[in-house]
Amino acid sequence: MAQLSRDDEAFGGALMTLEQAGARVAALVEPVAGIERVALAQADGRVLAEDVLAPCDLPPFANSAVDGYAVRFADLAAAGPSRMPVAGRIPAGADAGSIATQGVAVRVFTGAPMPDGADTVFMQEDVTLEDGVAILPPGLRDGANARPAGEDITRGALAAPAGLRLRPQDLALLSALGLTEVAVRRRPRVAVFSTGDELTEPGQPLAPAAIYDANRALLRAMVERAGAEVIDLGILRDDRGSLARRLAEAAGGCDLVLTSGGVSTGEEDHVKAAVEQVGALAFWRIGIKPGRPVALGRVGETPFIGLPGNPVAVFVTFAFVARAMIARLAGTEHTRPVALSVRLGFPYRKKEGRREYVRVSLEPSANGVMVARKHPQDGAGVLTSLTRTDGLVELAEDLTVMGEGTVVPFLAYGLLFG
Ligand code: AMP
Ligand code: MG
Repeated sequence: MAQLSRDDEAFGGALMTLEQAGARVAALVEPVAGIERVALAQADGRVLAEDVLAPCDLPPFANSAVDGYAVRFADLAAAGPSRMPVAGRIPAGADAGSIATQGVAVRVFTGAPMPDGADTVFMQEDVTLEDGVAILPPGLRDGANARPAGEDITRGALAAPAGLRLRPQDLALLSALGLTEVAVRRRPRVAVFSTGDELTEPGQPLAPAAIYDANRALLRAMVERAGAEVIDLGILRDDRGSLARRLAEAAGGCDLVLTSGGVSTGEEDHVKAAVEQVGALAFWRIGIKPGRPVALGRVGETPFIGLPGNPVAVFVTFAFVARAMIARLAGTEHTRPVALSVRLGFPYRKKEGRREYVRVSLEPSANGVMVARKHPQDGAGVLTSLTRTDGLVELAEDLTVMGEGTVVPFLAYGLLFG
């Protein structure tokens, strides 16, 4: 990874915005090397390693968009209905051959090739037949209901760019172009640890004062949805020596080490010291709530991100910071999800200079505008505040006092982790 510069370390003081943090973490790493060819059936969510150009026109031939009658527009009457004998019939998949089209209407079906010379198709619902003659209403435009060859994409055009994270619709396009496999980047490998003496593996008996580990389940799923492979390395105890050893071991086999917990400034927060022992650390204070602190550094040469311990803070900082780095490692870019505008269904006050994410549920109001209802419990450790809400409203740095009805951006969970 790029060296953490003095600049990065200097950020230990000032508060950074999420955008600054995301851009900085992304700039610290390069996409992983290693390209593999995978079948389209296995390519959903993978990142294209090279541009894909269309090997043919799509559609490959001009065809009818409807069930109906194909004609030459020039043959139609200048005014009023046209009467044309029906000659020929072309179902989808049949060869139009050298069927004549001059002065006649050819029966065609959706997807059937347009017979040579025909350019316009009347929908069957609009046509009446009298003794083998089609009566065609006036008013249709030249070329109506016909799909020209290459209408969708022309041969040689860019079908999918390098760096694109493939979605179902991209796979459909590549498939329609006849491709069977694509060159994608290897998935980044992300080692995930939880830290804390109080943490217990689910399935084990729970000792007094212990809690089950929630963050690893959260991070495993979020890392996978971000397009990376998880290396689950379990729970680390609050002990600097063992932390340093396990982190160093993990770093050898992955592209990013991701931990949660142990990065606050308490006496029992040993992650920072451990990372400093086996690498370097820049401690970033990001101006968000919930969320700070986030520790960023390297273990050996492998990037390291230390997320906070509280699950809701993990959720938010992963979504905006860790995800940006994983996207960059994966060879793509993390673009900010599209926010919807909603109205606050509650008054709110916050500190200036810090962005807040508030967990809300959406309710439609009488005029169709969505109103955001705040979850009653907003502690950073309350998991049901995430499971029982729809997403986050984003309250900008400069806002302090917001009245009910203030219009704010809303980010749906589905978009944050889609
Ligand atoms: P820390 O930053 O280590 O002080 O942790 C802050 C809070 O988050 C504490 O209440 C921890 O018990 C809790 N916490 C830390 N890690 C986890 C985890 N993996 N699962 C659930 N809660 C956690
Ligand atoms: Mg802890």
